[in-house]
Amino acid sequence: MKIAQPELERSPLSVDEALGRILERFASLPAEEKPILDALGQVLDEDVRAPNDVPPFANSAMDGYAVRAADVGVTPVRLPVAMEIPAGSAATARLMPGTVARIMTGAPLPAGADTVVRVEDTDGGSPGMVEIRKAGPAGENVRAAGEDLRKGEVVLQRGTVLRPAEIGVLATAGRASVHVVRRPRVAVLSTGDEVIEVDEPLAPGKIRDANRWSIAAAARAAGAIAVPLGIARDNAEDLRRSLRRAAEEDVVVTSGGVSVGDYDFVKLVVRELGTMDFWTIAMRPGKPVAFGEVLAKPIFGLPGNPVSALLTFELFARPALLKLQGRAKLHRPRVTARLLEDVTKPPHLRFFARAIYDAGAGTVRTTGPQGSGILRSMALANALVDLPIGPGVAKAGTEVSVILTDSAEDR
Ligand code: AMP
Ligand code: MG
Repeated sequence: MKIAQPELERSPLSVDEALGRILERFASLPAEEKPILDALGQVLDEDVRAPNDVPPFANSAMDGYAVRAADVGVTPVRLPVAMEIPAGSAATARLMPGTVARIMTGAPLPAGADTVVRVEDTDGGSPGMVEIRKAGPAGENVRAAGEDLRKGEVVLQRGTVLRPAEIGVLATAGRASVHVVRRPRVAVLSTGDEVIEVDEPLAPGKIRDANRWSIAAAARAAGAIAVPLGIARDNAEDLRRSLRRAAEEDVVVTSGGVSVGDYDFVKLVVRELGTMDFWTIAMRPGKPVAFGEVLAKPIFGLPGNPVSALLTFELFARPALLKLQGRAKLHRPRVTARLLEDVTKPPHLRFFARAIYDAGAGTVRTTGPQGSGILRSMALANALVDLPIGPGVAKAGTEVSVILTDSAEDR
């Protein structure tokens, strides 16, 4: 069955308009409580306070001798060793004037002492005595109670992305689990009668499914839980069944079948189950992008060409998934770089060239042939050159805007 295409001629949307319309449909997901290690990469949904001072007690920053600064004002000086304080010992007896205590890193400073002399600045000690050869000012090598975190203070604010350092702060603050914004589950569906599973033998007219895996990987790299769901055939019945299953997840992403071909059923079936805006976006690659709702879940209908699918995911779906996760920063870093070659483009479209950015040189060049079926052009890239509507060529030597798609920056 062929289908009619009623909305062929609509004026194209700009990339920014499309992104704006998409993002206004997304907000932070609810929180979940998770063990701190499992919360890595997620966004805090509470203010975390320190339940006590950290460190909880003044302690030694060095292996050496706890002293009163007043006793070691003139060096060298020989003093009796009154006690030994290993790490983990509870508060000890008071240090009497004119005596010192052998002390280890992390051990509590005895009352009466105010300074630690490093063992390297002594003769190493002999039974009962030590010669102090050099001493710093009062307070040297002592970590004050509360110098890291103060009791009651907010040490991590709601909205913070948890990296390894923040996980350490949580542990220090006595938190075994924490409230973070839940990760979205993303159903990823391929469409097409020509598309087969990666481990099926190739047959005439068939191609392997690239998009389900590249998009699922991109969703996972964006912090979502990817749920790859299979290949829907180019008929309404199969699509209906697949989309019903997909709509059990938080977000649905399909590829293929959204163009204006005779077998492009995605829009039709989505409209049946929800609503769908079909947008012609003034960009290349990736002109047809559909966005809407299926059974009340947001759906991205991405184009089928593997480059277009991944690139439109990057530009439109990734920021939405980050917003769902409570992230403040939704976009990749951008830099300006000098273009090393002429790049021609359709003047009426915004053009995203897959590119290699050299940070050291401040230059950028394309990855070669830029056809929207040439997935290697993405695999070789660490950046996208973003060329505006207007000119039909960007000349070698000009400064261009570059999106760094490989950046590990996650805040
Ligand atoms: P469509 O938008 O369905 O017309 O697909 C556009 C082009 O992308 C066609 O050449 C399809 O064969 C190809 N394509 C669609 N889906 C996939 C997929 N999952 N993996 C690789 N290529 C695909
Ligand atoms: Mg198709």
